[in-house]
Amino acid sequence: MSRIVFFSLPAHGHTNPTLPVVRELTERGHEVWYYSFREFREKIIAAGARYIECDQYLPQATNEEISKKAGKDFSALIEMTMETTLAMQEKVLKELSTIRPDCIVSDSMSVWGKLYAQKLDIPFISSTTTFAFNQHTAKLMKPGFKEALKMITGMGRIRRKINELQQAGYEVDSFTSLIGNDNETETIVFTTREFQPLAETFSGRFAFVGPSMPSIGPKTAKKDKTGILVYVSLGTVLNNAHFHKNCISALAGSGFEVVMSVGEKTDIGQFGKLPDNFTIKKTVDQIAVLGQADLFITHSGMNSVSESLYQGVPMVLYPMHSEQKLAAQRVADLGAGIILKNDRPQTIREAVRQVLEEPQYRRNTATLSGQFRNAGGAAAAADAILSRIKREEP
Ligand code: UDP
Repeated sequence: MSRIVFFSLPAHGHTNPTLPVVRELTERGHEVWYYSFREFREKIIAAGARYIECDQYLPQATNEEISKKAGKDFSALIEMTMETTLAMQEKVLKELSTIRPDCIVSDSMSVWGKLYAQKLDIPFISSTTTFAFNQHTAKLMKPGFKEALKMITGMGRIRRKINELQQAGYEVDSFTSLIGNDNETETIVFTTREFQPLAETFSGRFAFVGPSMPSIGPKTAKKDKTGILVYVSLGTVLNNAHFHKNCISALAGSGFEVVMSVGEKTDIGQFGKLPDNFTIKKTVDQIAVLGQADLFITHSGMNSVSESLYQGVPMVLYPMHSEQKLAAQRVADLGAGIILKNDRPQTIREAVRQVLEEPQYRRNTATLSGQFRNAGGAAAAADAILSRIKREEP
């Protein structure tokens, strides 16, 4: 049986898809260690791995600040990953020498996994919960002005940190080599080849396994409801009560049932007395709600988009960051949704009406849903890890 070590970022979106893979591996009898953070402890242990806590090695910023920065300030996130690599190295390199893993699996953004694997010459497989990223897809990213400015102003700090890593004996040539997915490295991508933009620029070493979710079976027939169900969520990081209020104005009295998830940090009281057709919660079982929904108004986070496509639900997309814009554009290009031009109630109302009334959105979403359901998921990701290990065997 193999010994496998996982690394990820302190972020739900990056951790969640790896958990069914961990479960798959441990159920097949392999031993898994997972370096992560307090917030994820229970679910990692529940998946069958040994959890090793790393919170104390994160730079001064709290987990929350880091996950907030994840979308808006990419250079701060990269800087954080390099600082963490240096802060944890003594502990983790020592432990890895004892664990002697057959393979390290690391999120492409938690660069420490890749760097420790290189240093100790341990077989490595990268995993990415966003689209696979190379110099070609980089050109598709359209950062807003503030995002671009933060990136430019952060470049000097990133270069200094790269120097520190080089002095500590890590092979890092550039910023892109640190976070990019090169064609020589085995990489698990939690989306389909069909949904990946510029898929032809990625080698056969990329395993496009589709979304990795707890097993949810076929989409259940909508037997308990008679009308249309619209689900609204901006994910777990963003906080935008203004947008939620506009959704209330747009869809109050529409005759649709609306379920809105507003996030743990949003005060629900601020929405006042709700229209009869609205239910607002801080958090819902999103995959289950999507199993019943006819339309999803989403911030276009990669997991939300994947879950929606998996469940065959067309979308109205309101992306705010460049990564979300890329996912939203892909959904729109493949005809599974509409990107909002602004957040005015009338714009939201018209987009909802269009997606619900024009059948091609449901048809195109159904095609994508079939691809997402047949991509292999967590089992295919586990196979990719085990064949990476096999490749090293004499
Ligand atoms: N999610 C959930 N309940 C909610 C809202 C979100 O379980 O009420 C989950 C959702 O299923 C998805 C994740 O949180 O897996 C959000 O990830 P995404 O990449 O879409 O956005 P982020 O939160 O990282 O911006």
